[in-house]
Amino acid sequence: MSTAVTLKTRDGGSTALSPEHLDGLRAKLRGTLCLPGDPGYDQARTLWNAMIDRKPAVTVRALGAADVIAAVRFAREHGLLLAVRGGGHNIAGNAVCEGGLQLDLSLMRSVRVDPKALTVRVEAGAVLGDVDKETQAFGLAVPIGINSTTGISGLTLGGGFGWTSRKLGLTIDNLLSADLVTANGALVRVSEKENPELFWAIRGGGGNFGVVTSFEFRLHPVGPELLAGVIVHPLAKAKEVLQGYRRILATAPDELTVFFVLRKAPPLPFLAPEYHGTDVLVLAACWAGDPETGKGPVGAIQGLGKPLAEHVGPVPLVMWQQLLDPMLAAGARNYWKSQSFAELPDAAIDALIENAKRIPTADSEIAVAHVGGAINRVPAQATAYPHRNVTWIMNEHTRWTDPAQDKECIAWARKLFDDMAPFATGGVYVNFMPEDETLKNRPGAYAGNYEKLTQIKAKLDPDNLFRMNQNIQPAR
Ligand SMILES: Cc1cc2nc3c(=O)[nH]c(=O)nc-3n(C[C@H](O)[C@H](O)[C@H](O)COP(=O)(O)OP(=O)(O)OC[C@H]3O[C@@H](n4cnc5c(N)ncnc54)[C@H](O)[C@@H]3O)c2cc1C
Repeated sequence: MSTAVTLKTRDGGSTALSPEHLDGLRAKLRGTLCLPGDPGYDQARTLWNAMIDRKPAVTVRALGAADVIAAVRFAREHGLLLAVRGGGHNIAGNAVCEGGLQLDLSLMRSVRVDPKALTVRVEAGAVLGDVDKETQAFGLAVPIGINSTTGISGLTLGGGFGWTSRKLGLTIDNLLSADLVTANGALVRVSEKENPELFWAIRGGGGNFGVVTSFEFRLHPVGPELLAGVIVHPLAKAKEVLQGYRRILATAPDELTVFFVLRKAPPLPFLAPEYHGTDVLVLAACWAGDPETGKGPVGAIQGLGKPLAEHVGPVPLVMWQQLLDPMLAAGARNYWKSQSFAELPDAAIDALIENAKRIPTADSEIAVAHVGGAINRVPAQATAYPHRNVTWIMNEHTRWTDPAQDKECIAWARKLFDDMAPFATGGVYVNFMPEDETLKNRPGAYAGNYEKLTQIKAKLDPDNLFRMNQNIQPAR
């Protein structure tokens, strides 16, 4: 390298760094330092959401904590704009910055299970499929999300829920410790005993407080088979089916989780071709216990209305966790809006159905996750994640490929959001906030925990080095 490289700084300006500066950083790394055009550069900057197309000036592809320390210190010393990438799934695209320094953790994917201690240590670049495959080799699991290509880092730092969360809690409720590089470049261990305030903050507070290099989770015996599957109804019957669904779930055991989705029917192999592309309601049910004992509760959901088709039975956990991957594959243009609900009154169901009739593309969907159970038995102040009163989280997965449809798709999502607002708690799951939402326009993201988070931020990152995230401002 013979010429200086200009990088964006955190104050909005830029700085030119000499080849010697970059060689100094490179010499400290086990991993690689990439400039535009280098192998690995495009891989690191390409995110799940194709709406995000940013080009960092320099990317460090880390292989371990030493690389993370070197990159964080380099960014701090030169005042650089820094972005940190885990799995690259976040809708807002904060895992990559334009013109700054990107720290890519996606090559750090080791997962080590301790079957005696019932714990697992997971490196920060692992994706959920890595975690499930390693833990299920021992018949164990940690509650994580429903898409196997999502990164463990962003998911955990925001909270993390999935099919087993009503029984086992959020991902953060099962976090025992983490190794984290602070804004001054020190590697610290955080747990209930060590740095407990910081441990509190990273359980929901996102990447605001440091770069996690690995997580340690508590494991539970789950699987290897779950009782799970999907049931497809015509949208025309959605209201009565959802009313019955709501009644059953009001007293359902924690093992039972049933998400629902309103969309155009995908070409599912068990659905007759004449229904492909028609408006449908899909119930996705999972019994996170012995499949035999789940037959009654899951059967009650199967007994609702007259489904067009269904596919329910014992399924390996690892397979169930990958089932929705094809519908949420990387590379599409995406815009999300999310609301949380404690109740779903009839008027809310009507609003969902009316908006589903106008869904703009075949790949878009209104996905409503079923939470509650063990999640809600944790006090709202126990972790930075405050939403312990929620039963449903709606995520509008608006997806399309042609940029000409940007306006139409975003407008549809905003209209649905507005229509559902009267029924919502006002809180929002930070991991579902798109690029145009901030903690200013969605203050419900941290609700009563925000003030404490700003104080911890002021102590640990007063210069806001870690700002490419749903940013918590340091208290002044
Ligand atoms: C298809 C799909 C399905 C999803 N399903 C679920 C689900 O079932 N349950 C659920 O809870 N969520 C789900 N999510 C949301 C998901 O939790 C968030 O998108 C999450 O942020 C993804 O983490 P990531 O590491 O892949 O993201 P990234 O985009 O890499 O990172 C997200 C944010 O975290 C920061 N960050 C990443 N790694 C670190 C680190 N090691 N240290 C500090 N900061 C870091 C980044 O800077 C960025 O701000 C889903 C998302 C998608 C796209």
